[in-house]
Amino acid sequence: MSKKAKGIGLLSGGLDSALACLVLRDAGADVECLHFFTGFCVTGHNSRVGRKERPIANHALQVGAEIGVPVELIDISEEYLPVVLRPRFGYGKHMNPCIDCRVFMLEKAREHMEETGADFVFTGEVLGQRPMSQVKSALRSVELAAGLEGQLLRPLSARLLPPTDVENRGLVDREKLLAIAGRGRKIQIELAERYGLTRFMQPAGGCCFLTDKAYSAKFKDAIRHRGGENLRVEDVFILGVGRHFRLSPRLKLIVGRDKIENDFLHHYKDDHWSAGVLGFAGPTAIVIGEISDEDWDEIASIVARYSDGKGEPAIEVKFTRGDHVKLITVPPASSETLARYRL
Ligand code: SF4
Repeated sequence: MSKKAKGIGLLSGGLDSALACLVLRDAGADVECLHFFTGFCVTGHNSRVGRKERPIANHALQVGAEIGVPVELIDISEEYLPVVLRPRFGYGKHMNPCIDCRVFMLEKAREHMEETGADFVFTGEVLGQRPMSQVKSALRSVELAAGLEGQLLRPLSARLLPPTDVENRGLVDREKLLAIAGRGRKIQIELAERYGLTRFMQPAGGCCFLTDKAYSAKFKDAIRHRGGENLRVEDVFILGVGRHFRLSPRLKLIVGRDKIENDFLHHYKDDHWSAGVLGFAGPTAIVIGEISDEDWDEIASIVARYSDGKGEPAIEVKFTRGDHVKLITVPPASSETLARYRL
């Protein structure tokens, strides 16, 4: 019996990449998948912050288990950050460098294919599903840029695209591949029902911080004030936690939005001034940078504004750093003050 072709897939945890695995198996291939943690993944972030109500629920692992496909999770965050800071193909609507991102992930998949002796790489991309990155010319550019000419199969749209090497060699039955195009989800939903798929992540679930307007504003601010070359993975990680206020070029305040974020911000207390109100329930806040004499009251007033005592004429705020303690009583900040500094 001839050897089956083996494909290495990018499994996001969404429906399309899961369907790509199933369609390929029906077309005669063996499949294995990779799932990358970029440092900007919302689910991975929630897991590290400790959001139990939004658990890691790594959809890629769940889907992989449901369809019986091995999935390897790979942390690419260190290597990925420079790609986001200096994208060759530019950004999308916000700070999302989608084309560079696809190329980078596919390069990683190609390396994995070469190391494991697999025959091709595949994705769940659908022709025309996204206006910029999934038109025919963009799919072709990405294939070439990733060094995968003839080796990148998109099973859901394959019959609308030129055949790949494994199809030409008859190792994958092109007739069993699909010809889906466009933004509609009807065919994919019908296929999910036919295959009995239930555990996939819903589309448009906001899975990448880089497509988020508010996160992108914080990211741009960090690049402007720290310099992209000085940013580390940890620096961008904390951009997804709390409300951020830029008080001056050298000073930023982060205020927790809920108990989980307050608990998480406690980890930063040894290295930075932290602040919290006395006498009322309120957030934990962390001050990043140097505080000058005129900053203390402003910081305290913002922290007070997010406490249960925000309607009081004045609130006492306690600052702590190691053994140092500072108490300040201020009126809670006005909405205008918040708007002036909020990122
Ligand atoms: S949305 Fe985020 S993860 Fe997806 S391709 Fe764009 S940059 Fe990459």
